[in-house]
Amino acid sequence: MKIEILGCSGSVARGFNTTSILVNDTLLIDAGSAASVLPDERLSKIDDILITHSHIDHIKELPFIADSIFTNKNKGINIWASSTTIDVLEVNVFNGLIWPDIRQLELKGESLIRFKELSLKDFYIGNISITPIPVDHMMGSLGFLLNEDDKYVLFSGDTGYTKGLFDVVKSLGARLKVFFVEASFPDRMLDTAVISKHLTPSIVGKSLGENIPKDTRVILYHIKPRFLEEIVANLPEKMEYIKGGEAFDI
Ligand SMILES: [Zn+2]
Ligand SMILES: [Zn+2]
Repeated sequence: MKIEILGCSGSVARGFNTTSILVNDTLLIDAGSAASVLPDERLSKIDDILITHSHIDHIKELPFIADSIFTNKNKGINIWASSTTIDVLEVNVFNGLIWPDIRQLELKGESLIRFKELSLKDFYIGNISITPIPVDHMMGSLGFLLNEDDKYVLFSGDTGYTKGLFDVVKSLGARLKVFFVEASFPDRMLDTAVISKHLTPSIVGKSLGENIPKDTRVILYHIKPRFLEEIVANLPEKMEYIKGGEAFDI
């Protein structure tokens, strides 16, 4: 599985892009920055977009990705999200006021943009099996577990402490190659993190316990740019971090 971190910051700042993660060139997780990072020819290869939730740092470039598809592609794109997230996007973004209702864009009688409502069942996009995992953030928020060739990668999405997420980590053991887990705030801002339903490095550490298989990489992401230095300076043992621009071959 090829994973490119186009952006993974918890806010916008100069030199930092918000969350967009490209998998095997054609699958995008969140639409925080792809349109402003990828050249047109790579953007037009995207067939599917998984949206974790509707906060603006995860969806803000969806209108421009759709625009690029409309002008450059001759096939449609699937946008996979929870019913709550789809409702929010339809009512608040693609409403003809903020941006046109993109579902009405058609090519050869077929909609170019197809919203696909996710249940909590596994499904396939190409060779990748995807399991949506409900997480405690805003309503309808999801993390995603991806599996290709029995190598698992887990993306937490934005979340407060969610037992089910950490249970997945424990149950997979060494088959989980990477756990990308959000850590928006430093430990000294624990109260802010809890109220806003985010994590800090120490919540991640405590929730994982002592039993992380040595083959599983725990990588913090969605760090707010102004706290990056502080989080990196106090990074717990066995944890890594990303800030955007990295690539992984798993
Ligand atoms: Zn976010
Ligand atoms: Zn959020």
